[in-house]
Amino acid sequence: MALTTKKQFIAGVTCPKCAQIDKIQAYVEDGINYRECVSCGFKDEMRLTSAPRELQTRVNTSAEDIAGQTRAVKLIDPSR
Ligand SMILES: [Zn+2]
Repeated sequence: MALTTKKQFIAGVTCPKCAQIDKIQAYVEDGINYRECVSCGFKDEMRLTSAPRELQTRVNTSAEDIAGQTRAVKLIDPSR
């Protein structure tokens, strides 16, 4: 999902403040990603600078392949 300067709703996201679903809009302001609830006015900065680690877990790649491609996986604590 690419964020643009236009406000757009994020489907399936629950507001952490009022707990209403599908009320969160995402937008970019001065290069910073924000999320805003249109229901209660909740506003928060979204930090998307970290690597999309979630995507890797969904990819059908074996652990050996990942280990061979990048040594960054060593940073992940296997005990979690
Ligand atoms: Zn809200």
